[in-house]
Amino acid sequence: MLTPQQAWSSILAHTTCLPATEISADEALGYVLAVPVLADRDMPPANRSAKDGFAVRAADLLRMPVTLPIVGEVAAGSPAAPVVTDGTCARIFTGANLPPGADTVVQVEDTRSAGAGEVTFVRAEPAGANILRQGENARAGGELVAAGSVLGSLQIAIAAATGRTSLRAFRRPRVAIIATGRELVPPEAEVGAHQERDANGPMLTAAFRAAGISVASACRVSDDLDAVTAALRQGLASADAVVLSGGVSVGAYDFVPAAITAVGASPHVHGVAMKPGKPFLFATAPDSRLVFGLPGNPLSAATTLHEFVLPALRRMAGWPEADCRPLVRARLLEAIANPPGYQRYVLATLAWNTSGPEVTPVSSQSSADLAAGARADGAVIVPADARGLDQGALVDFRPWRVWP
Ligand code: AMP
Ligand code: MG
Repeated sequence: MLTPQQAWSSILAHTTCLPATEISADEALGYVLAVPVLADRDMPPANRSAKDGFAVRAADLLRMPVTLPIVGEVAAGSPAAPVVTDGTCARIFTGANLPPGADTVVQVEDTRSAGAGEVTFVRAEPAGANILRQGENARAGGELVAAGSVLGSLQIAIAAATGRTSLRAFRRPRVAIIATGRELVPPEAEVGAHQERDANGPMLTAAFRAAGISVASACRVSDDLDAVTAALRQGLASADAVVLSGGVSVGAYDFVPAAITAVGASPHVHGVAMKPGKPFLFATAPDSRLVFGLPGNPLSAATTLHEFVLPALRRMAGWPEADCRPLVRARLLEAIANPPGYQRYVLATLAWNTSGPEVTPVSSQSSADLAAGARADGAVIVPADARGLDQGALVDFRPWRVWP
């Protein structure tokens, strides 16, 4: 049986980025940039004032105080360029271009109003003071956002500042979801004592939506080889990846492995030394499509979803390998006992305290205990060879929530 790390390595080896496409800048949040954003002009494009005050020549400020005539005014957005000659100054506002002839700006707090059309300087400034120099942030043609960056609000902002209305980014995967199980009924249906409401389908849909991955289709099928095979075939026809839940183990009603073979996909991982999540299955279909079989117990499904599926889909969407699987180093507030053997995932809450991130285990009865899962923010990872984790130790925590 593969370790979780070996399983992840195998998944990575079979996962490639989708091709790049042109995305409207309005829609680009969360996409991964494929072609860098370059400065279209110097930033700032001209010498600009960083203050409200007066543009003047430093040579005229050698003796304090000094009163000079005001020859003009320039505010941000004004194309005015009053020429500042020896012994004169111009009123200037933050963001305005420095008028020709001036070499410094004195903030208004360091001046006093004099007669009409004049101002008295009470503090000198050297040449260059309070000026944002042309090109000091970036030169025209310089790289502002590197390829491989995940586009957040600041990257969208700089793209807008360079006049970009569209960006070249990696396409994000479309996913088909198949919940298998004869016992499953939709949430709105009447449910018998022998039945189970489908929780994994909605969980997967929500998790993909939070990750910006579009759900091409979501369906439920009974434990029937033909039905599972047909659903899988249909999913592969419409999506870049298919995620199944349930039916992945070795029971008489577990048809996912046979369906994967029936559609001509090749399994690479089946069974991982982890708890929960041991029966997890990963296969590839022709055209580099990915197939994930998650165990049906909701906590097993959640664990393998965040451990393998979401990271692989992020990789398809162009995320750098190292960023696909977010991990938080956090202080453990309560000890965890562990029977060694399997790598274990222990539900926990996460708090961002002033002393750093802290995690507290959430007790759960089994991998069927979705009630406990709904109280958790993710899982503490307990290494297979650890007898346990001590209170106060720094531990690895896999976050299951996306913090806005
Ligand atoms: P399986 O992996 O198919 O053997 O299912 C393991 C357990 O998970 C069974 O108790 C199933 O009823 C339950 N289960 C399977 N699929 C779902 C689902 N979509 N929602 C909630 N529970 C499920
Ligand atoms: Mg089942």
